[in-house]
Order: sequence, then structure tokens, then C-alpha cells
Amino acid sequence: MKTALVYSDKADSFDYGREHPLRMERLPLTWRLMRAYGLTTLPNARVVAPEPAAETDIARYHTREYLDVLRRADAGLDPADGAIYGLGLGDNPVFRGLWEVAQLVAAGSLTAADLVASGAVDRAFHFAGGLHHAFPDRASGFCYVNDAVLAILRLRERGLRVAYVDIDAHHGDGVQHAFYADPNVMTISTHERGERLFPGTGFVREQGEGAGVGFSVNLPLEAYTDSAVYLPAFEAVVPPLIERFKPDVIVAQLGVDAHRTDPLTHLALDVQGFGRAVQRIAALAPRLVALGGGGYDLRNVPRMWTVAWAVLNGVELAPTLPDAFADDPHTPPAFVAPRQSRGAPRYRAATIGAPTWPPHPPAFVAPRQKPWLLDFAR
Ligand SMILES: [Zn+2]
Repeated sequence: MKTALVYSDKADSFDYGREHPLRMERLPLTWRLMRAYGLTTLPNARVVAPEPAAETDIARYHTREYLDVLRRADAGLDPADGAIYGLGLGDNPVFRGLWEVAQLVAAGSLTAADLVASGAVDRAFHFAGGLHHAFPDRASGFCYVNDAVLAILRLRERGLRVAYVDIDAHHGDGVQHAFYADPNVMTISTHERGERLFPGTGFVREQGEGAGVGFSVNLPLEAYTDSAVYLPAFEAVVPPLIERFKPDVIVAQLGVDAHRTDPLTHLALDVQGFGRAVQRIAALAPRLVALGGGGYDLRNVPRMWTVAWAVLNGVELAPTLPDAFADDPHTPPAFVAPRQSRGAPRYRAATIGAPTWPPHPPAFVAPRQKPWLLDFAR
């Protein structure tokens, strides 16, 4: 099996603003944790920089009028009509380089789609992508350009049947909207229920329209849903649908804000449960384009995406952070669990306990039961 990690070190030079929960630092932190584990030099995996996206690629989904507004906002000044397009103070601030970074994220997901569509790799992961809330003519939920939709459209242009599986804590409303009437793209989203959390949609009754009825699927979850509840729910809903739909490729949005320490949501997954879900998605996917998504606790976001990339490559991780990462002066002290603080002796055995997930039916028990990498837990 061949895999590709799509990564650019340019994205972290952009800043949504000091108070904004979406921290671009999460991208280089994730990259450095993957590197410290040796996951950026795996024999069958290549690391690929995004090919620049043409505006026509992005206009495949977004309106020209909206893209003109994003281009005008690139200098960092609010366009007078920005509010009409969802821009302004709050979720979707205008900042210098906004259009540049939106293009970069789109480019990464299109590159991942191209690598998979061409057969160059079987699985590609672009963890800076997965910005699933953007609509054709407006920004929403920290998302300006919907790279997940663009990746799906690219795969559809190559004649591939696509299932989209979104495990972010928030409903994948932008992607659902794009394919709501399309029976050739099945969208499945698991998320905290809409009465409790942005964007306020993703109810079971949202099932598609016209020819697309039955091809939009939502699994809303109660607050505090943990891995022990999430995994059986996922198992009951997602595999039967994928097995019936028979996609050529799965596009997975692997947002990590369903983690129990995430400050913006109320779900309670742990790293292990997230890893199991990724493992199931990968097992169901003939080919896989994996994207990132939300994730606002900087201590666990890199852990989870690192686990995802390990899972996609069939690699098992040691449960403690690699010394190279823990000792790196660029690693924020808060990232390192007290037991593994710099300069202190490391008691590896102390962190290898019983797995944090309970026994499950055979369908989603991994061949080996060791945990990959433990959570940072408050
Ligand atoms: Zn989210």
C-alpha cells in the first residue's frame, strides 16, 4: 500500500488573530510530532507539497463574486460588504493572507484527491484540510473555502463514486449542502447534536432531496458521548451504508474536536477511540482521501492526527511522546504531560496501562490491543 502525506510549512505563517481558537500552530506541531515518531520517512509513504490551486479549480464550487471578496480581503482589511459573505469579527475574521491560505488549503486537498485518483497512492492525508463549513458564497465556522467539497468534485470528475465520512464534532453542513440532491455522493456525518452545538444542523431528518434522498446521513450525538458509546454507534451506522453504497473512494473529514479536552465542544472521545474510528474508515475505503478539520486543544490535536497517519500506514506508536519531541525547545511546555516533563526521568511503564476503551465486539477490535499513543488528560 502506498500513502502520501500532503503538507506545506507555509500555512502556519497566517494568523486568524490572537484570540481566535483556530491556532495555525497546530499544523507544525503535528508535523513535528509525526517527524519525531519517524512517520515522515516511512518506506511506502511520500511527503508531498500542495500543487498550487488555480482560481478556476476553486470556482468549481464557489461563486466568482465571493472569491472576488476573498481576494480583496487578502490585504487584511474588512471589505465594506464582507458581512454579506460571512466575513468580519467573530468566527471568520479578515486577516492578512486570508485568500492565500484559503488557496493553499484548497490546493492541498486537491493534490490529495489527484494522488488518489491517479492511482499514485492508495491513501492520502492532508491534515490542514477538512474545512467543511464553507458555503458557495459565504464563509462559516472558521472556513472560507470548502476544500472537502473541491476534493470530492475532483474525484467525481475522474468518474469515481465518493462517500464522505465526517467525524468532526460539528456537523459537516457545507459538504452536505453541496451534495444534498446528488445520489452519487453519500455524505455521512457524526457530530454533537445541533441543539447543542454550531452549526445547529445535522438532524436525522436531513436525508437529502430529490434524487439524493437517502444519500445524506446524520448521526447526532449527545453531549459527553465517549468512545465507548461512539464506536458502537459508528459501527451500527457507517459500515452498513458504505458496504451498500460501494464507493470507489472515501473522503474522510477527521476533525479532532470530538476529543474530551476540546474547549469548543462537549463530546468526550479519547485518542484511542478516535484512532479506532479512523481504522474502521480506512478498512472500509477502497481508496482514501483523509482530511483534517476542527481541533482546538493544542495538546491533543497533534496526537490525534499523528495517530491517524500512523493508522493509515499500519504503524503502531509507542504510547509516550518521543524524546525528540518532548525535548524539542519548540514544543510548548503545556504540551508535555507532567509525567514526561523535560529533564525528568521517564517512566514508560507508568503510562502503559489498560487501554482506555472497553472491550468491543470483534468487528472493531484491532489485531493488537496496545494503545498507540495516550491522551494528554487534564
Ligand atoms: Zn469542528
